[in-house]
Formats: sequence, C-alpha cells, structure tokens
Amino acid sequence: MRSVLRWACRGEAGDEEAEGQHPAGTGRRRPRVTVELHAHSACSDGSLSPAALVQRAHQNGVKVLALTDHDTMAGVPEAIEAAKQCSIRIIPGVEISAVHSPSDGIGVDEPVHILAYYGSLGPEKSQELDRFLGSIRDGRYTRAKEMLLKLRSLDMPMKLEDVCTIAGDGVAPGRLHVARAMVEAGYVENLRQAFSRYLYDGGPAYAIGSEPTGESVVRLVCRTGGLAVLAHPWALKNPVAVIKDLKAAGLHGIEVYRSDGKLSGLSDLADTYGLLKLGGSDYHGRDEKDEPDVGSVDLPVLAVSGFLDVAQPIWRNATKEILASKTERSPGLNGSKEFQLTSSGKDFCNVCLFSPDLGVTDASEVEVLETEFADIVLS
Ligand SMILES: [Zn+2]
Ligand SMILES: [Zn+2]
Repeated sequence: MRSVLRWACRGEAGDEEAEGQHPAGTGRRRPRVTVELHAHSACSDGSLSPAALVQRAHQNGVKVLALTDHDTMAGVPEAIEAAKQCSIRIIPGVEISAVHSPSDGIGVDEPVHILAYYGSLGPEKSQELDRFLGSIRDGRYTRAKEMLLKLRSLDMPMKLEDVCTIAGDGVAPGRLHVARAMVEAGYVENLRQAFSRYLYDGGPAYAIGSEPTGESVVRLVCRTGGLAVLAHPWALKNPVAVIKDLKAAGLHGIEVYRSDGKLSGLSDLADTYGLLKLGGSDYHGRDEKDEPDVGSVDLPVLAVSGFLDVAQPIWRNATKEILASKTERSPGLNGSKEFQLTSSGKDFCNVCLFSPDLGVTDASEVEVLETEFADIVLS
C-alpha cells in the first residue's frame, strides 16, 4: 500500500494526501490513489491534446496517467512536460492494433488491442518499436481507403482527404475518423449510429487492416521492456481463445475493471491464466454524455500494487539496457551532459537515478540500481 502511494504521489506526503481525492467526492474513507491506465489524446483519435488530457486528468484527481494512443507514442513527451506542472506521473504507453487468428484454425479472425506500458525512460530498442508502429499506421491509410470504398458502394461517397483532415495533421486515420466524416456528410445522425449500422467489427463498411498478430505484438512489447495487457476483452467474440494464445506469447494482464465496476467473468479468466487484473477508462473525449471520464475507473490499490510488482523489475531492466546502450554509443560518456557534470561513474549513476524523469524514490531500489549501473557504467 505504502509503496503504491509513494510511487503514485511523488513529492507528496502519502496516505493523507491520497485520501478523498476522488472527483465524485464519494466520501469513502479508505485511502485510494487514482490511476488511469487507458486514455487517448489527439495524437490518435482522442479530442484533447496530450497537455489538455493531463490537465483534465489532474482536475479529476488522477495521480498516475498512462497515455495509450493507438499505434503511436508521439504524445508522450508533451504529456510528460505538462505533467511536471501538476505532479502527475506519466506512464509512456501505446495501444497497439493487432489481429487474432485462432490457433486451432476454427473460428474467425478478430481485432485485438494490446496495451503496452513502459518505464519512465520509454521502450528499449525504441527504433524497432517505432518501425513496427510506423508500419501499422501506414496500414491504417490502406484500411481507411477500403472502408471508404465499401461506403461508396453503399451510396455514401466520401473523400479520403476529408477523413484525414478530421484525423488531424500526421494522425493516421481510424474508424472513429471515418465515423465523424459520415456524421459531417449527413449519412448518419451520430457516431453511435455510424458504428452500429456500418462500422462495427464485421459490419458492412468494416475493413480489417494489415495488422500484425496479437502474439507478435505481445512478444514485441516484452522484447522492448514493456508490460503487455489485453485491452477491452469484453468486446471479443472468443476471449478464452485469445487470452490463452496471448498468455502463451507472454501477456502480463487483461483489462477487467471499467467505470461500471469489475467484470467477474473476465476476472475469473485472469485468475485461471495467472494474469494481472487491470483497467482504465479508454477516454477519448468524444462528445457523448455517457463516455466514462478520464480517471473514472476505481482501480483497487491491490491491482495497482500487483501491476507494480510485475512492472518494476521489467522497467528497471529496460532502464539498465537503455543506459547501457547510451554509454556504448558514446564511449567515455563524453556526449553525455550529465557525465560532464560529474567526476565519476558512481556520480553518473546518481545523476541518472535521481533524475526526475526516472522517478526512482525507494532507497533500496536505488541501491540495487546503483550496483547494477556501476557494473555497466564502470566496466
Ligand atoms: Zn482499443
Ligand atoms: Zn483505447
């Protein structure tokens, strides 16, 4: 409990500070810390800029926010910068589009979204991840074109440029952007109608992209020092088969909590397969009244501490790899600003460890890291 609070409420006192932070002001006595593990910005299909999202999360009492845009981490630096103003911790994240093909050959392919959570220095082997995400984004243009072709055959002609304008500068178009274009063109009354009539999975205007398999995404997330979590499994036709196959590939957890509470069937599945039970609002800032707000999921402290128990060793290892590859690239660390300010490797470790970006606050953790870094940096 204390470790969760210390992690979440950096720079604050702890228990008392975290109490009663819930925006709804429910007056509950038990200490809670609002952690939001699933939210989108305008860098994918959300409506708020990363900075505005952070601001809104802060207003809602969020202490830790994972930015999980679709197939891009472009908003993370802005979110981290904005978070400095309001002492929110940002988890660099991404929601990766994939497809699951049943391993037994029976059943149908279905889209799956894998959330990836990284440590404060981001992914290791970040170029590999960037290339991977880049090719998924390219595939989204092809997919948008396909959806427009289908809509045209349904007598709803629209231009790709219009969809891209709605998506915004440099943002790969997605289904939501197509839906917005349909509303603007007057083909449907609202987004809900666009989805329920045409764009739902397998719907008449739905197109599956050239997405990678769920397993390959999970393996990539593991390889790049992240935690892989299956997003909204309640939307799957065959959650058991998906969870079983992804677990075999290294999946760490599944979403089980929503704004309306815990889903017991999925919670049981998580227990069966030894997976973390997590969740988030999946906030997009759509102009819909019933959209759960950022920070509205009541993630129990136990779930957060389970998440940290699994995440921290993975993130620590990634941090080590990132720093090691940095030192490899600049022999003698000459290129490093930090190193120029320090006289020894040990000092360099200290600078790295106590840098606000890294966010290591636990003394014993620092000790472990110091020993590990000393091996790398000084050898
Ligand atoms: Zn999703
Ligand atoms: Zn999402």
